[in-house]
Amino acid sequence: MQKLQGKVAVITGGNSGIGFAIAQRFVSEGAYVFIMGRRQAQLDEALSVLGENAEAVQGDVTKPDDLARLFETVKTRKGRLDILVPNSGISEYAPLEAISAEHFDHIFGINVRATLFTVQAAVELMSEGGSIVMIGSIAGFIGTAGYGVYGASKAAVRSYSRTWTRELSGKGIRVNTLSPGPIDTPMFDDVSDEVRKTLTALIPLGRLGKPEEVAAAALFLASDESSYITGAELCIDGGMSQV
Ligand code: NDP
Repeated sequence: MQKLQGKVAVITGGNSGIGFAIAQRFVSEGAYVFIMGRRQAQLDEALSVLGENAEAVQGDVTKPDDLARLFETVKTRKGRLDILVPNSGISEYAPLEAISAEHFDHIFGINVRATLFTVQAAVELMSEGGSIVMIGSIAGFIGTAGYGVYGASKAAVRSYSRTWTRELSGKGIRVNTLSPGPIDTPMFDDVSDEVRKTLTALIPLGRLGKPEEVAAAALFLASDESSYITGAELCIDGGMSQV
């Protein structure tokens, strides 16, 4: 028996990195998956791997019309939603003295504002209950020099999760947070070998994580195997936040 047999899932940012690995894992466990991202070429590439149990809606999660089109498509095609992973997110380096209003608005616009409206729209379609797997970061609770705004945005995601656990449990909707440490995705493409080395030295398991390792945890939280878990946070960080 597949763990997500017959389930309908939305994964924003399902065309790259962690989101793509989650989409692959969910499809392999029997889910039908909708992904959204801005880059059509990446969506096409992802769909060519995901196969016939996935479809893509091209769009920007910060644009209300695009979000509305995504959930309208889910409603028309499947009539309901069981699982949401609001994974679209960005990270940019800016130490305190370099933070501008634009930097703040850009990061918060995607990681905090769009995440809120994605969840709000998704919940309307979770008529039979569901599971929301929020994507936080250990940067939301450990200091990371140069990533103050990013860390604050992920702290907001943790806070959402706790609040929505209280608001949505009555509707049979569970809300949990995955908080990855450094995971080797395109988000790390610009990171120098030197920074990678420094980071790796801070990780007890001695390496960056793989997107598939986050996807394994997402599967657990999305599936009925975690049916009595809500409001929880799971760190996937090789022990980095424990030291
Ligand atoms: P990627 O850069 O590989 O993926 C980011 C995804 O978000 C892409 O699919 C991108 O698609 C999508 N996205 C970004 N902005 C928008 C937007 N405005 N509208 C729609 N989609 C958007 O990075 P990761 O896979 O590493 O990151 C995924 C999540 O994991 C993020 O929330 C990130 O903060 C979190 N995370 C990552 C960690 C890491 O070390 N990699 C650690 C902790 C948390 P497109 O560009 O096509 O729009």
